[in-house]
Amino acid sequence: MPGASCMLYSQRVLMHVRYGYFCEDCNVAVYPTTTRAELRWLKERAHVAREVARHSSGGLDHWMTEGLAFLEDHAGHSVIVMERP
Ligand SMILES: [Zn+2]
Repeated sequence: MPGASCMLYSQRVLMHVRYGYFCEDCNVAVYPTTTRAELRWLKERAHVAREVARHSSGGLDHWMTEGLAFLEDHAGHSVIVMERP
């Protein structure tokens, strides 16, 4: 079953390979519990996510809150998505 093995594979990636944001200016990083694709999405659309956060009563997922806080702290800095060493 290709579907099942594909799912297992992505779960393994999520559990063992973590990605995060790294600020090249401050030399600090955060590793929210999510995928690289989502980190990149959030970085490109931080303003959209903030709007969603403001209008949703349930709030954002924890990784999003964590990621947004980091992006806000390092606004204007050189922030990249990187694999945890
Ligand atoms: Zn910074």
